[in-house]
Amino acid sequence: PEFISVSNLAIALGQKIDVFVRQLEELGFEDVGKDNILTGETAALVAQEYGFEPKVDAGEDEDLKPAPASADPSSLPLRPPVVTIMGHVDHGKTTLLDYLRKSSIVSQEHGGITQHIGAFSVSLSSGKQITFLDTPGHAAFLSMRQRGANVTDMVILVVAADDSVMPQTLEALKHARAAKVPIIVAINKIDRPEANVDRVKSDLATHGVEIEDYGGDVQVVCVSGKTGQGMDDLEENILLLSEMLDIRAEPDGMAEGWVLESTIKPIGRVATVLVKRGTLRAGDFIVAGRVHAKVRSLRNEAGVEVDEAPPGTAVEVLGWKEPPEAGDQVLQAPDESKAKAAVRYRQELKERGEVIGQMAQQEQDRRERE
Ligand code: GDP
Ligand code: MG
Repeated sequence: PEFISVSNLAIALGQKIDVFVRQLEELGFEDVGKDNILTGETAALVAQEYGFEPKVDAGEDEDLKPAPASADPSSLPLRPPVVTIMGHVDHGKTTLLDYLRKSSIVSQEHGGITQHIGAFSVSLSSGKQITFLDTPGHAAFLSMRQRGANVTDMVILVVAADDSVMPQTLEALKHARAAKVPIIVAINKIDRPEANVDRVKSDLATHGVEIEDYGGDVQVVCVSGKTGQGMDDLEENILLLSEMLDIRAEPDGMAEGWVLESTIKPIGRVATVLVKRGTLRAGDFIVAGRVHAKVRSLRNEAGVEVDEAPPGTAVEVLGWKEPPEAGDQVLQAPDESKAKAAVRYRQELKERGEVIGQMAQQEQDRRERE
């Protein structure tokens, strides 16, 4: 099997389940339980922690190690913030994104036509840019967070003024907190007669959101995705928070990012890649999970070919040999042979994970027979 449950892995490694779960947490896994499913690759890495020595040369992946943090980050240029919109169903996430998308320069230059590529950038009159992720918030978070990185710099928590805090509002809050990502609250649908902004604020405060009206530092903006009211303020607030967070990235060196989406289009296999560091260009060799690509071309959300994707921007990447998976980290390789070597190494890791899975299954079968 390509996947293994935490409890089966515990059995395979001869660990008591509760002790094992605690140790996983120490290794950096969050919210794990015995029924959680790990990929073979993850299982193999965990197994290594328990002294199951890998037989392959770990050097193969070395060339793809994400670059270390800069010694003096404050000297790096600022990059656009990456923003995810989350909230309860029907509270207006899609409506707000559509509004923002229409205000993007790219869409205005191309007759308002933007394609769905999982992200888009809005250029403001100040010349500053904001990149919005147009992928379901939870999906964007989860797989990437397991690798200890956040794809998003902040979360816009949308709460409908006529419905207030709902289960998925709290769910979104939980994700943002676990990832330690700051939030801005957008109280939406303020054009509606039933809107009750004060109720939303007090409900949020009840759930521990320290909003500024109550002396906290979480900004709250009242908006309407329908009339556009407050949308400029929302963008302003995003930039303000972005300045406070001092979001910078190295534009040179090996590119690094995440696969947001992966699909097949008439033009071929495409994956939307959010670049977090370095600059991605046509001709580059990249690895994502166990597949690699020689970047054939890059396209923005209007489907227009672009020369490069700097940090904080998302582009469609063409040139994949096989489809990468959403959530995979993208790392540039110095050349094609290094890209291929890394893919081979990762394949071996995965196969080792499968062996552990089989060990676990055999162990479980044996116990069941006894
Ligand atoms: P999502 O499920 O969070 O993506 O919510 P949608 O964007 O699909 O919105 C759900 C419904 O609320 C749709 O019928 C929207 O037209 C409506 N809606 C969204 N924003 C507003 C708003 O600001 N004012 C009003 N009156 N309706 C809104
Ligand atoms: Mg929606």
